Amino acid sequence: MFLVSTPTIAGLSRIEREHLATDQRRYFVPCPHCGHRQHLRFERLLWDAGEPETARYLCEDCDGAIGEQHKAAMLAAGEWRATATATDPHAIGFHISALCSPPGWMPWSEIARLWLAAQGDDRAIKTFRNTVLGETWQVAGEAPDWQRLYDRREHWPAGTVPMGGLLLTAGVDVQRDCLEASLWAWGQDRQSWLVEHRVLAGNPFEAPVWKELRLLLRENWRHASGHRLPVAMAAIDSGDGMTTAEVYSFVRRAGAGRAIAVKGQDGLSAAVGQPAATEVRRNGRKLGGLKVWPVGSSFLKGETYGWLKLERPTEESGDPFPPGYVHLPVHAAGEEFCRQLTAEQLVARAGRNGFRRLEWVKTRERNEAPDCRVYARAAAAALGMDGWGEGRWARMADALSLPAAELPTGVNVTRPSPSPVATDAHRPRGWLAPRSEWLR
Ligand SMILES: [Zn+2]
Repeated sequence: MFLVSTPTIAGLSRIEREHLATDQRRYFVPCPHCGHRQHLRFERLLWDAGEPETARYLCEDCDGAIGEQHKAAMLAAGEWRATATATDPHAIGFHISALCSPPGWMPWSEIARLWLAAQGDDRAIKTFRNTVLGETWQVAGEAPDWQRLYDRREHWPAGTVPMGGLLLTAGVDVQRDCLEASLWAWGQDRQSWLVEHRVLAGNPFEAPVWKELRLLLRENWRHASGHRLPVAMAAIDSGDGMTTAEVYSFVRRAGAGRAIAVKGQDGLSAAVGQPAATEVRRNGRKLGGLKVWPVGSSFLKGETYGWLKLERPTEESGDPFPPGYVHLPVHAAGEEFCRQLTAEQLVARAGRNGFRRLEWVKTRERNEAPDCRVYARAAAAALGMDGWGEGRWARMADALSLPAAELPTGVNVTRPSPSPVATDAHRPRGWLAPRSEWLR
């Protein structure tokens, strides 16, 4: 029997499970300087900051720099060596990464370039680890400490959006006795700022609470530039199956491109999938068709937890915030919010078919903050944020830096049109939408 595959997620990957039972052979190649045999590891590939074309490999023994031109001879002189004792004596296993690509295939400089291009994007880093390095992707499952988040909160005026936040989205969770809504602002590098978290008390089967939500979403928030920033898109959970008709009426009344219905889909390794039409009925009567967007809830929780764990740069260093950094303000993120945001844990469970599954488990009973965050993130993804290049962000920032008087009236600087295909689209980097599309 021969099994071959690219691995996926650590703990879930079937090829990983099979490979771990083998003698785990790796391809050992000799250093052209000292002759030391080693298998190539990504950690030893170095390049000058921002210059992937300078990529070279450092020998683990003599630290000598090995260039692309050495590769052909090294690969020819290589050999497979076992690195483990097989638990199954008949099982032999081989692992090889793109670092061993023969000359003319994928050079080290290309690997460095792909790595740099993937920074700040969990999905791209996962793809890089899986397909270039042939390694599993470790989902960030450990919740960050709520106290750490609490202590590093930032100060900015309530009801306003800091300078870096250029796109405002809302995530709404439907509960039995209330709606919970979070407003998040997004910027380049997917940094985010919590603008507001509100609990709207009321029965979701009755109109008043939905009216309150409508008012909340119609509010304009003040951007640090002085401009008004409207909510570009709201994503509302329709996953419980009970309130689908209510969500449907809300989304329809909100108008095209202002609100979407979403539904968590655990196996989805992307922010959002392709929306699917669902028929909505109330008391047996057909109300119409609703497009429901599948949301990669587990994937986005992993992404959020990875980002929440990023260190805040010290003021002394003057370093910028890292890509994906989550900014929490003192006025909107109290102790309860910080506790909720960190109160989920990724645990492995055995599925019925014997394969392990990873599942997010709430460690507190009322715990809507992570869901609201995930839906707001999905709304940004549905707008196509993940494909926006630097140029597009720069133009959004430019529009907000104009004095308010110079903007034509009625111009809505931050309402881009929704993208029909969300994050799955492999748009070229630096992809720009025509100016008219986002300045409409
Ligand atoms: Zn060496």
